[in-house]
Amino acid sequence: MARPDYIICLECESEVEEFSWREGEIRKAVCDVCGNSDPDAFSLPEDFEESEEAEADDEDDLEDDYEDYGAGEDEDEEEE
Ligand SMILES: [Zn+2]
Repeated sequence: MARPDYIICLECESEVEEFSWREGEIRKAVCDVCGNSDPDAFSLPEDFEESEEAEADDEDDLEDDYEDYGAGEDEDEEEE
């Protein structure tokens, strides 16, 4: 994997251009905005966009579950 032009700070979602890249991983990075210096707390631009989409999907699933639960409760009341 080629070194990206920048990485994303997960603490404040800023673009960070100064970081150490080695063997396809972030080895060292410091965010100028919030001071974050934990390599695990940075994400590649590609991964960051994917994770945002995944979170949006989860929210849709939760709404569906809630609607199903409410319908089930109404059925029980009618039986009694
Ligand atoms: Zn930051």
